Amino acid sequence: MGDGNLMGQQDAITRDENDPLGVFRQQFHIPTDASGDPLIYFCGNSLGLMPKVAFDDVTAELEDWRDLAVAGHLQARRPWLPYHESFRERGSRWVGAKPIEVVYMNTLTANLHFLMASFYRPESNRTKILSDSPCFPSDTYALRSQARWHGLDADEAMVVLEPREGESCLRDDDILSAIDENRDELALVMFAGVNYYTGQAYDIESIAAKCQEHGIPLGLDLAHAAGNLDLQLHDHGVDFAAWCTYKYGNCGPGSVAGAFVHERHASNQELVRLAGWWGNDPATRFRMDENTEFVAYPGAEGWQVSNPPIFSMAPLHSSLEIFDKAGIGALRERSIRLTGYLQERIESIGSSHYQVITPGEPHRRGAQISIRVLGDAQALQSSLGEAGIVTDFRPPDVVRIAPTPLYNTFEEIHRFAEVLEQQAQVEMGRGGD
Ligand SMILES: *Cc1c(COP(=O)(O)O)cnc(C)c1O
Repeated sequence: MGDGNLMGQQDAITRDENDPLGVFRQQFHIPTDASGDPLIYFCGNSLGLMPKVAFDDVTAELEDWRDLAVAGHLQARRPWLPYHESFRERGSRWVGAKPIEVVYMNTLTANLHFLMASFYRPESNRTKILSDSPCFPSDTYALRSQARWHGLDADEAMVVLEPREGESCLRDDDILSAIDENRDELALVMFAGVNYYTGQAYDIESIAAKCQEHGIPLGLDLAHAAGNLDLQLHDHGVDFAAWCTYKYGNCGPGSVAGAFVHERHASNQELVRLAGWWGNDPATRFRMDENTEFVAYPGAEGWQVSNPPIFSMAPLHSSLEIFDKAGIGALRERSIRLTGYLQERIESIGSSHYQVITPGEPHRRGAQISIRVLGDAQALQSSLGEAGIVTDFRPPDVVRIAPTPLYNTFEEIHRFAEVLEQQAQVEMGRGGD
């Protein structure tokens, strides 16, 4: 290791020591390599690390099930019957919403379908869906199948907005123009909050304002935005949104998802929906008589279909508590510091083999930087693996690195930059650059 690297390491350590939110790392299990050394985990955008208390959260439910069985619906330490209600405050604050606007239920793609059943209502000339690209496969399947479900041709119904020739990300103005241009044909605008591939954060406020101007419902897939950005879903006037909790939310594989429905739709009993008993007014939910008319519970909770999946919801308690303690605003500031440092380090290597495709401006991205590898992407991926650095590789050539503000450190980013630099030198030796 050269002097430059030693200085770089010392600088990173100092940044860690001076960062007030660095302490939260201790609350997480950090996976280790075969010799017990902690891995450098940059995959929090794919599956977040386990908070140490999650074990107790889940164990408590197993114990109550073991000891109480059916009585647990009312007598568990956290009674199962109203279980979802305990997330009203924290679970809505997490995404900048009001308690009546958020519910935790099902899984992400399932929630998108349930919400589109209400908010994607193609009629006469307005049949199309505008979406960003590249679109996550599950979202593409969901959107196209929704069009077909309504008897439409999926190719005709989809307006997929692509970056301009030679660019990787969408321009904010182009998004607004596309909504203007297609306003008479759009039945829905369905965007990501943060694009999973490029890491681009969209300007939700201006997109929502434009959609409202034309009376087009706006839905958001916040898989990569929840727990990452400081969202303001209520104030920005988004119509509906869904997100998973296993990425930046750290609630474990396949954990329960979130759903948002803006307050202005809360009491609209006319909205068509795919209903189930848990969305019905609890006062009449269990009624077994002849009068079986569904009475939607006001707000997002009225979109529930089934009773809550307790084991997949249990980790949400501690996870939201951690976010509350840190404060989503403060976490976002730390995230900007970490991601900015990562960008600086990549740029200072100055290799033409690594092209950052994520926007450089902090407000146009979250906690992720995506690098297009113009050299040997596989070799870089194996060098990172050998150094104990876990990243995500999207074939053919994109490596995604997510410094997660709850548990990643400046020093880890320094280690990553070292490996990247070594690999850049190998590339140069091959006669590149
Ligand atoms: C992670 C992710 C999903 C995953 O969907 P599930 O229903 O949770 O399996 C869907 N869409 C996007 C954009 C994602 O990033």
